[in-house]
Amino acid sequence: MTTPPRRPRLALPFTILTERDTVRLVAGEDFRYTLTGPGLDGWLPAWLAGLDGRTLLAEAIARLPEAHRAAARQLADQLYGERVLIDGAASDAHTPAQVRLVPDGSAAWAIEWKPLGAGRPLPAFCQDRLDYEEALCFNCRCLDAGTAWLWASTGPMGRAYVSPLFLPDAGPCLSCLLNHFRRLSPAPELYDALTAHARGGGEVVPVAFPEPGIAIVQQLLLWKAALAAEPEPSSALYRLHVVESAPLEVTWHRVFVDPECPDCRSRR
Ligand SMILES: [Zn+2]
Repeated sequence: MTTPPRRPRLALPFTILTERDTVRLVAGEDFRYTLTGPGLDGWLPAWLAGLDGRTLLAEAIARLPEAHRAAARQLADQLYGERVLIDGAASDAHTPAQVRLVPDGSAAWAIEWKPLGAGRPLPAFCQDRLDYEEALCFNCRCLDAGTAWLWASTGPMGRAYVSPLFLPDAGPCLSCLLNHFRRLSPAPELYDALTAHARGGGEVVPVAFPEPGIAIVQQLLLWKAALAAEPEPSSALYRLHVVESAPLEVTWHRVFVDPECPDCRSRR
């Protein structure tokens, strides 16, 4: 399995102190790191401060003069190991784009749904059944094609999901999200059983969801498509929204990259 490309940024708001051949990173009283090496004070502070979580590590290293690149590579490994550097989130990699929501998938509520709008097509894979297999296949196709996309499902019946905007090159993918659900589930084996059933050609039966709830799901998808065009969108664009049908409630949740993800890790 290959290592996904790193897009580093400092994990904390460090104050960067320098002395001859020494660079210190200080965040509050409890986080202090001292790095030493010939001439480090001359280039490292500006280089670290420029790591924005969206530039690839290889690109950031290439911007340095040749003489500093080996040291930068080694320091980056060390600082990743100590969690001083972390990868940027999907929101760090946000590139504003005017998009037009294009519903895909077999959900009855999406078949006749023709959202208006102009711009680059943004697929929204819509489901009304727990067919994880077809959603994961769609996820892999988008990762392979380098396409951003959204997923929405009313398949859980008591609740519906509207995904974060999935990016092909940063942040979590649908497989990361479902792996997280699976870990939290009291019956994780059902995920495997449903996937095996669908993979074997078995039917996964659609379920009903209240009409007003479907309208909320559709509006959340449209809202996220509109946010995609904003240069500084609300962090909601990169969160999971859950529409609960019993309390009529919408909640939002952070979604993390699964470091063991079998789908995005090998494709980035
Ligand atoms: Zn993933």
